[in-house]
Amino acid sequence: MRMKIDDENCTGHGRCAKYAPNVFRLDDDGYNVDRGSEIEVPAGEEKTALLGMKSCPERAITIVEE
Ligand code: SF4
Repeated sequence: MRMKIDDENCTGHGRCAKYAPNVFRLDDDGYNVDRGSEIEVPAGEEKTALLGMKSCPERAITIVEE
């Protein structure tokens, strides 16, 4: 599963990493370090990745349809 983190919509709430720390990482300012690009969700982390995605108040994280 791939996910995309939107550069403009990510405003640094940090919730994604709180719910899915093995999928999303934050920089020192609380923004998703992968904003503006796509990530591959590690095997077995799909459920937590979806939780993290849904927790984002800006809807900055979306699933990349393959
Ligand atoms: S929860 Fe959303 S806005 Fe906050 S850091 Fe994660 S992607 Fe960005």
